[in-house]
Amino acid sequence: MVVADYTYGQRNIMSIAMWSGWVRLRTQVLFMVLSMAVSAYGKVYKFGIVGFGPGGIIAAGALLDAGVDLADIILFDPKYQVGRMGEYYGNVPANNSGRRFIEFIGMCEAFQGVQSPAMQRLRAVDPNREHLLQVIIDPLQDISDYFRTLMDSVIGSVTDLTYEDGAWSIGVGDAMYRAERVILAIGSYPRSLHYDAVEQEIPFDLAINKCTLASIVQPTDTIAVIGGAHSAVLIMKFLSELPIARIINFYRHPLYYMTTAEEQQWRGCEIIGDPLQGVAAAWAREVLDVDPPGNLVRVRNSETARKAWLPICTKIIYAAGFERNVMPTITGISPTAYNPSTGVIGPHLFGIGIAFPELVDEGAGKCKFAIGLRDFMRFAQRVVSEWMVKEGRPYKDIPAYCERFSEVISFTVL
Ligand SMILES: Cc1cc2nc3c(=O)[nH]c(=O)nc-3n(C[C@H](O)[C@H](O)[C@H](O)COP(=O)(O)OP(=O)(O)OC[C@H]3O[C@@H](n4cnc5c(N)ncnc54)[C@H](O)[C@@H]3O)c2cc1C
Repeated sequence: MVVADYTYGQRNIMSIAMWSGWVRLRTQVLFMVLSMAVSAYGKVYKFGIVGFGPGGIIAAGALLDAGVDLADIILFDPKYQVGRMGEYYGNVPANNSGRRFIEFIGMCEAFQGVQSPAMQRLRAVDPNREHLLQVIIDPLQDISDYFRTLMDSVIGSVTDLTYEDGAWSIGVGDAMYRAERVILAIGSYPRSLHYDAVEQEIPFDLAINKCTLASIVQPTDTIAVIGGAHSAVLIMKFLSELPIARIINFYRHPLYYMTTAEEQQWRGCEIIGDPLQGVAAAWAREVLDVDPPGNLVRVRNSETARKAWLPICTKIIYAAGFERNVMPTITGISPTAYNPSTGVIGPHLFGIGIAFPELVDEGAGKCKFAIGLRDFMRFAQRVVSEWMVKEGRPYKDIPAYCERFSEVISFTVL
């Protein structure tokens, strides 16, 4: 419009000047947008950690201790609240002494950068007693927050992983990130067995917190507890201390202070869990074995027993193990297994934490999945150097007995 007030020549020069300015501006804007896109997409991190519960935090700590640069790690989690433990289990008695948690924190050099009140509280607890899990959740939350000030982190769930040109594209909704290696620390959720006879299920995450459980149960309730390991025993203890009519416990293996509810023969290797510990072990020894509550019935879990007892139950709680959370969609490779001694899932794709527990040889033909925090740390510190190797172990080199990838987690009993 301004151009029209000038002579043709002037107008021409003016319009050319404005046009070239416009083109320049557009080019600059385009260049800026492109370069932003390229820097977001183009940066190839050395490690992407998917899931930042205890497993992811431990993986990050182990990488830093092994010398990986802060700028080379990118984190992904929808909440950064210390995983399922942080969200639900703060009020649950730990199955190990305070000393174990203090030792666990001391195992990682990178954790020592955090000197918060929660860290001091942990160091001041009675090391010989079991405490509520909150005592370790708070320091882990501080470590998680601290790591996020040092490393790039994305709030969101990773939906897909694509292996192309020697690196992983990590999709979070529409956004895409790149990393040479990916560590899956995606965690797990409590398994439900869906016995139809009882309509009302009390979710495990609520049942394992005595306060929440107390607010759900009624004096007239007969409650079925499925499982015979640590968590099932804790829940039975809680229920026995609440005013309810009856508790019917369906177990697979007798209590002998081992979490053997899912004990299995697996290629000649007997899978065992951890022994009952802490509050659960003490209650099992002092009450359950000696003088069980009058309103508690324990039956072997069989179809006959379920037919007989489930119809009288008003509510049901499954404390029957954990299953791996849904994996991101993976393209470029077809993972069907993970190596439970190295965590290798695919090319430069690794697993850690409760979703990919280490299988430890206990000797005498017995193995167990190692699912405690110290176990994860020991595992991470042992395998991380292998994960950093440029070529790494060929991913096809996975023991045949681990091919039933989806089944592995079903054995994890807490
Ligand atoms: C009742 C109970 C008591 C326990 N007591 C003890 C104890 O006393 N001592 C001990 O050492 N251990 C104990 N444990 C075991 C230990 O707490 C667990 O093994 C551990 O918390 C598992 O951590 P994780 O990070 O592997 O999984 P999770 O805690 O499940 O964390 C996984 C994280 O990954 C995120 N995630 C999942 N999918 C994606 C995705 N696609 N993209 C991005 N993020 C994703 C989730 O949101 C979550 O934040 C206990 C466990 C339970 C259940």
